[in-house]
Amino acid sequence: MTLFHRFWYGCSLSSFVMLVSALPLQAQTLPLSEGLTSLLSPEGEALLQGSEAQADYFPLTSHFVTQDNQAFCGVASIVMVLNAIGIPAPEATTWSRQYFTQSNVFNEQTEAVIPQTVIARQGLTLAELGGILASYPVEVEVLHGGDISVTEFRQTVVENLANRDNFVLINYLRRAIGQERGGHISPIAAYDADTDQFLILDVSRYKYPPVWVGTEALWAATNTVDGVSGKTRGIVLVSR
Ligand code: CA
Repeated sequence: MTLFHRFWYGCSLSSFVMLVSALPLQAQTLPLSEGLTSLLSPEGEALLQGSEAQADYFPLTSHFVTQDNQAFCGVASIVMVLNAIGIPAPEATTWSRQYFTQSNVFNEQTEAVIPQTVIARQGLTLAELGGILASYPVEVEVLHGGDISVTEFRQTVVENLANRDNFVLINYLRRAIGQERGGHISPIAAYDADTDQFLILDVSRYKYPPVWVGTEALWAATNTVDGVSGKTRGIVLVSR
């Protein structure tokens, strides 16, 4: 045995242990409850490949962002849709490019709907989500879960997902679909008719992956009362 080999065999185990213990923990989202399918699983990927309505998937994923703070799920969702829909954007100073961000999306008109400082404390209600979008040159329709049947919900969202010129944001109660925990907002990206499930591109990417959810459960999660507005949650349709 050479001097080198003696040195290597003597040191390798302790070096390995030190190396492993120094490795940072990997990024880890919360486990999904039964009935939800991660897009990142083989089943979730197959659902997308077989999806009957997915025109919105590519423009949305091309502009997919993570919410900047725990109250900005609505703001991140708005930014994704405004970038995907392709209207003139303000300058993002960091990049010297015209592109919507979770900072430059705010202006005098959005402050009149709800001040940014209030959003940072309590997030957005369905009406405020629609109001901020409507302050931009897009068509906006706000539908409360309590005002539409599950059949109308399915038909409306599927029609939209088949057309890439418009988008759907959903405001739902997480715990109604088995997630943690309160009200949340994200874009919907696709529909699979065989299993009757929608794909939510969850903007809290640090918490959950994009997930397939059954239509009944998803609609029921919009037919829940938001304590801030006293009204049911729902969907916002946005078109050019
Ligand atoms: Ca669409």
